[in-house]
Amino acid sequence: MIDPLRIEPGSAPKLVGRDTSAVPEWSIDKSDAERELAERVVQIDLLQNRLFAENARSMLLVLQGTDTAGKDGAIKNTFKQVNPAFLHVTAFKAPSSTELEHDYLWRVHAALPERGRIGIFNRSHYEDVLVPRGRGLLSAGRVAQRYGHINDFERMLTDEGTSVVKVLLHISKEEQRQRLQARVDDPEKRWKMRLADLDDRKLWDDFQSAYEEMIEATSTEHAPWYVVPADRKWLRNVVVAEIVVRALEAMAPTIPPGDDGIAGLVVE
Ligand code: ADP
Repeated sequence: MIDPLRIEPGSAPKLVGRDTSAVPEWSIDKSDAERELAERVVQIDLLQNRLFAENARSMLLVLQGTDTAGKDGAIKNTFKQVNPAFLHVTAFKAPSSTELEHDYLWRVHAALPERGRIGIFNRSHYEDVLVPRGRGLLSAGRVAQRYGHINDFERMLTDEGTSVVKVLLHISKEEQRQRLQARVDDPEKRWKMRLADLDDRKLWDDFQSAYEEMIEATSTEHAPWYVVPADRKWLRNVVVAEIVVRALEAMAPTIPPGDDGIAGLVVE
């Protein structure tokens, strides 16, 4: 079901006109999606336990998307069964003055998961190409140079035992309007909204182009991008969970055998 969402290396995802509410050739209703999510959540817990016991490798899930795309909701639902101690979640904001004193991958490297853990990036180093490109702050040449750094960086991570999976939560402009309006209208949600979010919304088309270019340049064999239709939260959740299950299954973490002589031991 997720194969059509995977962007093959070198191909362009064409976000404009791409369906934001359905997976091609896969129809599912809300109650089936919730049931399938529940199954996958249990699988993720089981596989994460093995990854932790193995203590040799890690996984990194990168989540990108415009404001209100559902990054927090996807994290909360996909990992709801996993022991929080086995996760390493980082939400990247605009860089602080200290972070700006360093190269743009400095804070990213420091936030990577330890062996045995799943790292989750809510926004990531991809903001360092999206924001300059979407807002026109860096030349195309400088941004292209960064795509090269990022591909090399992720290659290094993969070689050193961190599997990298990247997800763009893709919502429509109208869906974002409704979600922003809901934030304005609901006092419980209003804190999530900043007036500056409206500035990026005005640049919607520029950001969509920036996402397309970024994905084309950085979807690789070892660190693929998935473009997930995210207008329906229940569909988004099951798809992200499936991507995580597949990535963990591909890693096939194994439980270590334990101390010599422990198997079959009778404890008195
Ligand atoms: P949320 O992710 O909930 O929207 P905030 O609005 O507080 O959180 O912070 C995210 C903001 O920080 C976004 O506007 C994002 O573009 C910006 N940001 C994150 N990383 C960078 C970066 N490397 N360079 C510039 N802006 C960034």
